[in-house]
Amino acid sequence: MTTAYEEKISPEYTMSTVMEEAQRCLLCHDAPCSKACPAGTDPARFIRSVRFRNFKGAAEIVRENNSLGGVCAHVCPTERYCQAGCSRCGIDRPIDIGGIQRFVTDMERRLQMEILRPGAPNGRHVAVVGAGPAGLEAAASLRRLGYEITVFEKRERPGGYLRYGIPAYRLPDEVVDADVAAIERLGVRFRCGVTVGTDVTMESLKAEYDAVLVATGAGEGKTLPLFDGDSRVETAVAFLARVRGNKGRGESIPDHALVVGGGDVAMDAATTLKKLGVRRVTDVAYEEFCEFLASAQELEGARNAGVTIIDGYIPVAVEGKAVVFRHRHIDAELRLAADKIILAVGQKADAAGLGLAMNGNEAQSRDYRTADEKIFVAGDIAPGDKTVVWAVRKGREAARAIHSSLEERRSR
Ligand SMILES: Cc1cc2nc3c(=O)[nH]c(=O)nc-3n(C[C@H](O)[C@H](O)[C@H](O)COP(=O)(O)OP(=O)(O)OC[C@H]3O[C@@H](n4cnc5c(N)ncnc54)[C@H](O)[C@@H]3O)c2cc1C
Ligand code: SF4
Repeated sequence: MTTAYEEKISPEYTMSTVMEEAQRCLLCHDAPCSKACPAGTDPARFIRSVRFRNFKGAAEIVRENNSLGGVCAHVCPTERYCQAGCSRCGIDRPIDIGGIQRFVTDMERRLQMEILRPGAPNGRHVAVVGAGPAGLEAAASLRRLGYEITVFEKRERPGGYLRYGIPAYRLPDEVVDADVAAIERLGVRFRCGVTVGTDVTMESLKAEYDAVLVATGAGEGKTLPLFDGDSRVETAVAFLARVRGNKGRGESIPDHALVVGGGDVAMDAATTLKKLGVRRVTDVAYEEFCEFLASAQELEGARNAGVTIIDGYIPVAVEGKAVVFRHRHIDAELRLAADKIILAVGQKADAAGLGLAMNGNEAQSRDYRTADEKIFVAGDIAPGDKTVVWAVRKGREAARAIHSSLEERRSR
């Protein structure tokens, strides 16, 4: 039975309403929406196919450049990417590209369309470390080029933050399962429950494989020294991973929960707390609303769920049950007593034991190549935006970098 935590929030189209939405498309020449998708998914073309009721064709276009097109349709901040480029923005409202892509990929899943195909075997074998969106897309792209691929993943199942971060009410399990299963059917092998750097060394992977791609993301939540040793405190990523795993069952429900942070992760944690039944949830953000980090959609979702959001304050002290905040610009103080405190103040790279030279949270690299000609990086650990669709882009581009590097090595 679905729990309150799992109830979906994305609206669903019917066959007639999706056609209506697709008919609003102006069929622009040189469509700006297609240029604005980081992954190179081509909305102008798949919307045209929908207008002709060619849903298989539409699904093929979505998957051309994006093996995680189903997932992206649920989680992309479209207002920053494809929909920001839509020509209808200047007329009334942009086409709901994410919604149409959701309809197409939901139909693909329900009708069990088989779209991804492996390339002719080329006899080379690549290891991918990390089965988040970057590792998954890289694995699929390399398979489509004919490589043998083994993905090493420390968790029990592939998905990264898709399965252990983003809440199920925004990204249902069946959507992640379907995209991952299609990649598995391509012939990608997964070795889950294996931590590279501990269970297997990078040296052994380098010796066994033609190239190694590290896509280990930024899986650890940052903390603030002020809260060290406080038993009420948990990082947002640890909290969200647990709730996603237990589907919201068996969580203890505090009377007042405090979330510190103003990004999408903070909004997810605060909204999840409300969905679990916490009576009072207060989010306190360093940023003011005019510079807020969370997307408009996530902020609205948190507000609609009943979260109180206070902007512009920094936590400065813990006095008994109360956390004391000071305003960044004006002489004002805020004291909030809480039974549970969730810190959503950023994530750290997961690169221990991998021997990568790091620049803060990113591996030192150029065009996905590192100083070691056999090691490549992609996803949150590589430069660029930290979103799923960017992880897809980086995974695909890193796959191409590996392919050209191996071709160069062969011709030497
Ligand atoms: C709560 C939350 C909500 C988010 N919401 C959105 C959203 O709505 N839209 C959006 O676009 N983006 C969102 N993001 C960001 C997005 O999830 C990340 O940018 C994306 O997942 C990064 O992909 P990745 O593959 O680089 O890393 P990850 O998804 O972090 O995957 C890395 C994988 O590597 C594995 N790993 C780590 N170390 C090792 C090791 N040593 N050996 C083997 N495996 C290892 C990890 O277990 C993990 O599975 C959200 C992030 C969070 C935390
Ligand atoms: S993948 Fe994401 S950003 Fe790209 S077209 Fe689809 S919904 Fe838009």
